[in-house]
Amino acid sequence: MEIKSAEFVISNTDVKKCPAGNLPEYAFIGRSNVGKSSLINMLTGKKGLAMTSQKPGKTMLINHFLINGQWYLVDLPGYGFAQRGKEGRDNIQRIIEDYILEREQLTNLFVLIDSRHEPQKIDLEFMEWLGENGIPFSLIFTKIDKISKSRLQENLKAYQTKLLESWEELPPILLSSSEKKEGRDEILNYIEEINKS
Ligand code: GDP
Repeated sequence: MEIKSAEFVISNTDVKKCPAGNLPEYAFIGRSNVGKSSLINMLTGKKGLAMTSQKPGKTMLINHFLINGQWYLVDLPGYGFAQRGKEGRDNIQRIIEDYILEREQLTNLFVLIDSRHEPQKIDLEFMEWLGENGIPFSLIFTKIDKISKSRLQENLKAYQTKLLESWEELPPILLSSSEKKEGRDEILNYIEEINKS
């Protein structure tokens, strides 16, 4: 897919105020510093579209970007799903959960994982929660330029083994490096294929 236009539409904390209409939405989520903003900027080809960690005004909200006038790329805040239950949830968790559970336009959620790290409890718990709620998701392993190819293969294998302890099937897995501009076509084509079906 070619990106002809990518424009910021709205930033909000209330799922009910997200854009009306029924364009499909592809949301990106991950722990802080996973490389989400860099990835969004790489995908859209617009450097400042999503704020990266080093800049002030880091995303704390639901950000909608309209792509090619056809679909929304949604930037969600980093999550902390360690505590469950309504009391334990802080405001940001509530915003994310409401969006994920209530937004009918949400077509696929990309969960970003730093390819350098071992499987983290918080990410695994989050995926389990997605599974329990029937939310379609895929994984994107980020920053693949930071490790060797063999290390990457080892880490992927370890992750898959861990996932298969609780999942019968693995979710789709994509790889990216915003630094080296890798994974861009794969992710955009993946979205295009879902949009076509
Ligand atoms: P966010 O908090 O998830 O939005 O993460 P950012 O996109 O702000 O990235 C966090 C840090 O990781 C920044 O210093 C980025 O420059 C760096 N980073 C992000 N993606 C990559 C990547 O693909 N390769 C490398 N080497 N560094 C990256």
